[in-house]
Amino acid sequence: MSDDAMMDPDRQAQAGEGAAPAGAGGRFADYLHRDSKHLAPGAPFAPAIVPTSIYSLASEPSGEYQYARWSNPGWTALEQALGALEQASAVIFPSGAAAVASLLASMLQPGERLLLQSDGYMGTRTAAQRYFASNGVLVETCSTAQVAAHPFDGYRLILLETPSNPGLDLVDIGDSAQRAHAAGAALVIDNTLMTPLGQSPLDLGADAVVYSDTKVLNGHSDLVFGHVASRDPQLLAGVLDWRRICGAIPGPFEAWLLQRGLETLELRLARMHANALALAQALAEHGAAVQVCYPGLPSHPAHALASAQMNGFGALIGLTLADQDAAERFIQGCRYLRPTTSFGGLHSSAERRARWGDAVAAGFIRLSVGCEPTQALRAEVLRSMDQLAPARR
Ligand SMILES: *Cc1c(COP(=O)(O)O)cnc(C)c1O
Repeated sequence: MSDDAMMDPDRQAQAGEGAAPAGAGGRFADYLHRDSKHLAPGAPFAPAIVPTSIYSLASEPSGEYQYARWSNPGWTALEQALGALEQASAVIFPSGAAAVASLLASMLQPGERLLLQSDGYMGTRTAAQRYFASNGVLVETCSTAQVAAHPFDGYRLILLETPSNPGLDLVDIGDSAQRAHAAGAALVIDNTLMTPLGQSPLDLGADAVVYSDTKVLNGHSDLVFGHVASRDPQLLAGVLDWRRICGAIPGPFEAWLLQRGLETLELRLARMHANALALAQALAEHGAAVQVCYPGLPSHPAHALASAQMNGFGALIGLTLADQDAAERFIQGCRYLRPTTSFGGLHSSAERRARWGDAVAAGFIRLSVGCEPTQALRAEVLRSMDQLAPARR
C-alpha cells in the first residue's frame, strides 16, 4: 500500500472490508480491529454498559430497543463481537446451560429424537433427560467412541462435543455433519473446549455451535455466560425467540465483562495450548504418571484427526495417577494448581473427576492448563510429581 493510501481514512476503511489474511491469526486480527475505522468522531471504542429496563417508546413501537428483555445495546455489541469471531450470527445467554436449553427447546418437538454423548457434558444430558424427555422428546446416547459407527437416521438433532470432557475422545465434525445432513438431521457442536479459534465446526458443516463462555472464552473465572452461533437464520431466530419469551437474558454488566475478556482470547489460547503440550510431554515421561491423555501427544488414539481438525490441542490434560491419595497429594502439593472444578481460566487448576461420579479411575485428574509462564509452570508441576515417585528422567 502506498503512503497516500495509508493516510486516507476512506481508502483504509475500504481496505478493511476485504477478506482477512489467511488463517486463524488473520481472522483474530480482523476481529480486534473490526471497529477501528468505522466509528464516528468522538465515539468510544469500548462498548457501553446500559443498565435499563425501558426505552423511550412513543406512539407505535418502532426501532431496535423497545423493552430490555428483548434487546440491549451492550448485548448488540457483544453479539456482533461473537459473530465476527465465528463469521456467523450469535445469540447470548446468562449461562452455557441456558444456551444449550434454548437449542433443545427451539429445535425439538415431542416425538422427535435427540442424540447426545453418554460421556459428554453431564448438565446437557441431565437437562435433556429430566425436562425434554418428560415432554416427549426421545433422548438417546452413545459414547464418543461409538459416534462414528452410530447411524444418524431418524434423528432431528445430534448435539456433540469434541474433544469430549474429561475423556478427550474426538469426533470427526466434517464426517458427522455430512452423515447428519444425509439423514435429515441437524448437527450442533458444543465448542466450549476449543473456542472459535481452536476449531471451526461451522466451516466443517455443523448447523450451529453452542458455548459455555464461562470457560476459555471469558478466561478470567469471574463470570458465568453462554452463547449460540449459526449461519442458519431460521435456526437462530428460534433460539432468539426462546430467549425473548422465556427470559433467559444476561445482565448488561456481565455482557461487558465477557466482551473485555474476549479481547485477549488469542493471546491466552496460544499460551494455554503451548503450556498444555509442554506439560503433557513432561508428564508422559514422568515415572509417577500411570497414563497421560492429551490429543497433542502422538500416543493419543485420535492424534491424526486432532491435527487435522483442531488448531492447537486444547488446554485440558487427563492425568491418571496411582490412586486417590496420590492424586490429592499431587494437586495439593503443586503451588500453581488451583483446586477447583471448571476449566479454561488463566490460572491452572485441577481436580479428581471421580468426586463427581465420572466413569474414571480414582486417581484420574483433569488438569486445566492456564497462562502461567511455561518454564515455571512445568518445573513446579514436575516438582510436585517428584514427591510421588522419583522421575525417570
Ligand atoms: C460448563 C459447560 C456447559 C455449561 O455451561 P455453564 O456456563 O456452566 O452454564 C456446557 N457445555 C460444556 C461443554 C461445558 O463445559
